[in-house]
Amino acid sequence: MRASNSMRGGRGQTIWTGESLKCLDRESVIMSHRTIHLFRKGLRLHDNPTLLGALVCSSALYPVYILDRVFLEGAMRIGTLRWRFILQSLEDLDARLRALGSRLYVLRGSTASVLRDLVTRWGVTQISYDSEVEPYYVSMEREIQTLAQERGLKTYTCVSHTLYDVKRIVKANGGAPPLTYKKFLHVLSVLGEPEKPVRDVSAEDFLRCVTPVEPDHEKTYRVPSLADLGLEVEFEVLWPGGETQALQRLDKHFQSQGWVANFSKTRTVPNSLLPSTTGLSPYLSLGCLSVRTFYHRLSSVYAQSKNHSLPPVSLQGQVLWREFFYTIALSTPNFTKMEGNPICLQIDWYHDPEALEKWRTAQTGFPWIDAIVTQLRQEGWIHHLARHAVACFLTRGDLWISWEEGMKVFEELLLDADYSINAGNWMWLSASAFFHKFTRIFCPVRFGRRTDPQGQYLRKYLPVLKNFPSQYIYEPWKAPEDVQLSAGCIIGKDYPRPMVCHTEASKRNLALMRQVREEQQNTAELTRDVADDPMEAGLKREMQEEEELLEGAEQHGTSKRFNGVADHKSGSWTPETLQLSGEVM
Ligand code: FAD
Repeated sequence: MRASNSMRGGRGQTIWTGESLKCLDRESVIMSHRTIHLFRKGLRLHDNPTLLGALVCSSALYPVYILDRVFLEGAMRIGTLRWRFILQSLEDLDARLRALGSRLYVLRGSTASVLRDLVTRWGVTQISYDSEVEPYYVSMEREIQTLAQERGLKTYTCVSHTLYDVKRIVKANGGAPPLTYKKFLHVLSVLGEPEKPVRDVSAEDFLRCVTPVEPDHEKTYRVPSLADLGLEVEFEVLWPGGETQALQRLDKHFQSQGWVANFSKTRTVPNSLLPSTTGLSPYLSLGCLSVRTFYHRLSSVYAQSKNHSLPPVSLQGQVLWREFFYTIALSTPNFTKMEGNPICLQIDWYHDPEALEKWRTAQTGFPWIDAIVTQLRQEGWIHHLARHAVACFLTRGDLWISWEEGMKVFEELLLDADYSINAGNWMWLSASAFFHKFTRIFCPVRFGRRTDPQGQYLRKYLPVLKNFPSQYIYEPWKAPEDVQLSAGCIIGKDYPRPMVCHTEASKRNLALMRQVREEQQNTAELTRDVADDPMEAGLKREMQEEEELLEGAEQHGTSKRFNGVADHKSGSWTPETLQLSGEVM
């Protein structure tokens, strides 16, 4: 077993990141605490070292979730699909706790004042919670520390949302985060394998340490419904929240050991009707699934396989991308913003609320883009490459709108919305950081058509187009009038015309980006490592083709070269420019 990573925090605080319980400080073990275990993320009973450690040193433990809506909605945008996912996850957590003889206490209000009240009411001596990296959770942790100091309470925290305590990665890299994936993997090779998961919390734990359930528990502390929060969702549940679902889905994937071992992100398909990747992100994001459990199960499959894929494209490679963005987010000021963010190119993006609204509401007139956004709005999950397509379109590809705007929309609509991963990937896709092949711009017509030439995905998510022949489904504006009539959809009336000419817009944006990167070469170099791009191998051929087309258009003077004056409206749709795009796409 690896040496324990336990650390002593401030006065009366134990921070524990190790896999054994040996590192609990002596005083805590001897004392029999009355503990509030505060769930924030980490909604699970498997590999939950904080909860397990708190149970060991307590005689009474109250599992608590504080639905602090003002705090949560102030810190992040949470759409109704994600609220539903959170509430389902809490229901599941309560059911699993109940099966072990405990219960979940759900309270509403401000975290600090609810805790203050509970500490007095229940005679609490210790508060336990997972240590998180997001600035809003860190500030909440400071409030808890202040309360603990005022009341003479212990706090007990562990890291369990990431494979490593990401502070250790930064420390091992000399105090700064490794800014490329390659360097990051190198630092991990020095640190060694992540800790193994701790054992599941069991009924025996709740025999020794009881949850004093009050008679009116159901009435006072039950998980509220969506209606209680004044919300409703019309779309069916495709991703039921909770640990039970997370573990079932994990088990199902591991039945196909070959698929797991040979997983290569570049071979997965963005427009398959069922997810072609694991679809575990919502569960990892809320901590219904432990990333260490996932990682070590992958290790055991790899150990039994003759061959297996490797990072960056393997499944372990995927969770390491997650870790990579967590590590950088921790130590980069203003990580979710452009301004004041030292790794991010400073770009004079357009302010165009009307264009943003068309993108956000699936009204761009490009079926591939609109179908993806529709799936996102209805289901809360889209494939990684689908995220590529819409993010590129919004930013450096077509609309030249800030990645921050796209990130906010994703934050609201994604079930897996995550502070570090979302911002990191948006910087990547907009070529503001991490990604440097900025000449590779996705075509909103050809990208989707490659893997779904019949347009089944488009027909599912944009039923208005379902009767178009495959020949036109990606570019319905090119269909002759009689074809539009017999498809029952007139472009410009029943479905919008394309909002931009892709060829014009992408060519102009490419020139803008080239200029930005020349001017800010030093910033661009900070996160540069071509070997980092997991999609590089798979997309190289297609993108090269696209690049050639763009360059061809430039060389043949089929459109005006950017002359240093930012006139984004020049990319707007007109019959003439569409004609041109038809030739080039
Ligand atoms: P799999 O391919 O099965 O991968 C397994 C796990 O690895 C994922 O669940 C996720 O935790 C992690 N992972 C995979 N790809 C990435 C990646 N590129 N970066 C970091 N971690 C990764 N993922 C989120 O979890 N939350 C977000 O808010 C988010 N925003 C994104 C925004 C944009 C613009 C883009 C391009 C990607 C974003 N991603 C985000 C990353 C990625 O698209 C999703 O993690 C992945 O598609 C989830 O599906 P999956 O669970 O089937 O992934």
